Amino acid sequence: MVGAGPNGLAAAVGLARAGLRVTVLEAADEIGGGARSGEAILPGLLHDHCSAVHLITVGSPFLSDLGLDRYGLRWRLPEIDCVHPLDDGTAGVLHRSVDATAAGLGEDGQRWRRLFAAPAVGYEELAADIMRPLLHLPRHPLRLARFGAPAVLPAAVLARAFTGERARALFGGVAAHAFRPLDRPLTASIGLGILAAGHRYGWAVAEGGSGSITRALAALLADLGGTVETGRRIRSAAELPPADITMLDLAPGAVADILGDRLPPRVARAYRRFRHGPGAFKVDFAVAGGVPWTAEPARRAGVVHLGGTFEEVAAAEREVSAGRMPQRPFVLVGQQYLADPQRSVGDVHPVWSYAHVPHGYDGDATETITSRIERFAPGFRDRIVGRSVRTTAGFAADNPNFVGGDIMTGAKDLPQLLFGPRVTLRPYATGVPGHYLCSAATPPGPGVHGMCGANAAEAALRDLGGSRGGRGSRATR
Ligand SMILES: Cc1cc2nc3c(=O)[nH]c(=O)nc-3n(C[C@H](O)[C@H](O)[C@H](O)COP(=O)(O)OP(=O)(O)OC[C@H]3O[C@@H](n4cnc5c(N)ncnc54)[C@H](O)[C@@H]3O)c2cc1C
Repeated sequence: MVGAGPNGLAAAVGLARAGLRVTVLEAADEIGGGARSGEAILPGLLHDHCSAVHLITVGSPFLSDLGLDRYGLRWRLPEIDCVHPLDDGTAGVLHRSVDATAAGLGEDGQRWRRLFAAPAVGYEELAADIMRPLLHLPRHPLRLARFGAPAVLPAAVLARAFTGERARALFGGVAAHAFRPLDRPLTASIGLGILAAGHRYGWAVAEGGSGSITRALAALLADLGGTVETGRRIRSAAELPPADITMLDLAPGAVADILGDRLPPRVARAYRRFRHGPGAFKVDFAVAGGVPWTAEPARRAGVVHLGGTFEEVAAAEREVSAGRMPQRPFVLVGQQYLADPQRSVGDVHPVWSYAHVPHGYDGDATETITSRIERFAPGFRDRIVGRSVRTTAGFAADNPNFVGGDIMTGAKDLPQLLFGPRVTLRPYATGVPGHYLCSAATPPGPGVHGMCGANAAEAALRDLGGSRGGRGSRATR
């Protein structure tokens, strides 16, 4: 297994549970990839270095079945899931309860209920289908069809269902997690999927930081006999130890570099042409007394989306996708400490934020992010005790999967969102016998759900069983 991100560790656990002896080789000095946490500004102040909110982790068909609570994983919920403040002082307020959310959305409440109540109640069934490669026999075809009809729309079209700005902006902010222009087909699916999972489980954070998730996976792996070696960056096929199965939790371009001309030419071409999306520019703050949001619910919310109206969010996303830095980028702010107070030191709190910026953006967005927060929370600036900045280049240096600061491991345009790096019935197979791709570049895409890894492990085990059974011999590299 190359790479100890959530998908790498999930794949490793999947293989180890089937009785295979697994070794994970991780380039960084610590495991976790996009799910890590630690100090960054003050001793004892705990920041999530990447992922923060884990509704799809709680609802992951694979992870939720592993009993990770035995390894210390506990979920904590904020009082309010997400708030999207507007310039006029009002805000869209997202609660775990569909009814409570609808009650705050006035004339749009009924519509919100109609869109989200059923997929939230049936999220487990839905996840059994949407967390797998697109081309499969649906397990719950009716539920999938009901979800799929609005999901194929551009978010901008679905947003027309709402008449009030609070509902429109709330939906648009969540749909913008796709890092895509909101007038493109299927962008509604990201908003619908996140909102359905959120209404089912709440916007949960991991007690003690997101690193608790990957630490729990690694502890389970150790119990199953697997081992992890950190500080082991793989650069060529010659560095891969002999194995029945080689799993790569990597960006497709890196797989093309490592496997070189062992890859079938059509696969090599697809991996080299894989498109990366816009970048993230992250600022972690240490804030005395927390953020003084004007909109009161934002003071109790796990996440605050700063993007203005739906149209403003859409315009900002259009700009970053076109490679231009908008004046007012979409900014996400995380206040995980509200659900998990042990992350703070006295009255100083860790505040997580990042802006959507163009791919490879080489400017400094620190002031832009700070002033975006100050706009909705006058006095914020005076409360900043310290900050830690990660540029697009910083993301790529920390984790080679985040090419150009693309924290989604690939642009989620139509073909890549549906199929991953290439259109095939076998999205995890690299075409080199025994070698599989299992990163967030493959279906079902980004997020700390481990499903790319779990699905890839399942495919690899099927192939291994087939080759052992069929030829009576071990599959070899
Ligand atoms: C700022 C930020 C915020 C996010 N917010 C959320 C969120 O709130 N909720 C959510 O669900 N998701 C979130 N994500 C996305 C999530 O973190 C990723 O989608 C997820 O981590 C992908 O998992 P992965 O295992 O595919 O890859 P990664 O997590 O990227 O892990 C890949 C691992 O492989 C290692 N590696 C790379 N190249 C090599 C090599 N050549 N040799 C050996 N090892 C190598 C890397 O060091 C890394 O540890 C966020 C990400 C970022 C950066």
